[in-house]
Amino acid sequence: MRYLILSDIHANWEALEAVLRHASGSYDEIVCLGDLVGYGADPNRVVQWARAHLSAAVRGNHDKAAVGLADLEWFNPAAREAAEWTASVLTAENYWYLRGLPRGPLEVGDFQIMHGHPADEDEYLLTLMAPGDVLPWLTSATAFFGHTHYQGGFQIARESVSGLAARAESDERFSVRLHPRWKYLINPGSVGQPRDGDPRAAYAIYDVEAGVVELRRCAYPVEVAQARILRAGLPAVLAERLAVGV
Ligand code: ZN
Repeated sequence: MRYLILSDIHANWEALEAVLRHASGSYDEIVCLGDLVGYGADPNRVVQWARAHLSAAVRGNHDKAAVGLADLEWFNPAAREAAEWTASVLTAENYWYLRGLPRGPLEVGDFQIMHGHPADEDEYLLTLMAPGDVLPWLTSATAFFGHTHYQGGFQIARESVSGLAARAESDERFSVRLHPRWKYLINPGSVGQPRDGDPRAAYAIYDVEAGVVELRRCAYPVEVAQARILRAGLPAVLAERLAVGV
């Protein structure tokens, strides 16, 4: 079984479409680690697609914000404005889909998916100091998380944690070969709003039988997504950041 692992799509239809084309032929099922909406101009199109194509998903903080499950006080002004706009345009079917998304961690096959930290979906997992910070919540050897919009993650070998040492095949992809006795927390990066300095859409392919996770990037028409954000009347900063990937 091969899974396409998506996270933080953020209503960016152009990025999602490009990823689906780029990944075509290399997966059997699709899972999403949260934040289908927020920031971008196409929440209905993205959620409509999610309802038809995802085999599993967890909710993100922006999904919660769009359906009244999160306190907008914690959002910066542009994020809050986008959340309020998203709430105002969502169709009833899409609203109820987002409202029903489960909190992670969620077990899917032999792995887990979650939005943020395994102990708290809203907490950012940017660094990992000690295995004990995450192990109590991990029921599988491999887990996927998002929320930070940084592609990468951590490997835990006995008592030591390290950043993922990946083998690059090209500028577009690098492979993580999973050691059978180690544990992994892997972030596929953000489809719709990368923040790791690379504006290309990010995603991952998990080949269960081969024991390999491939982290990938693909270019998409950023200027189309930007124009749609501006046309929707959303804050210009949300369009500008897409070009630089921060
Ligand atoms: Zn996000």
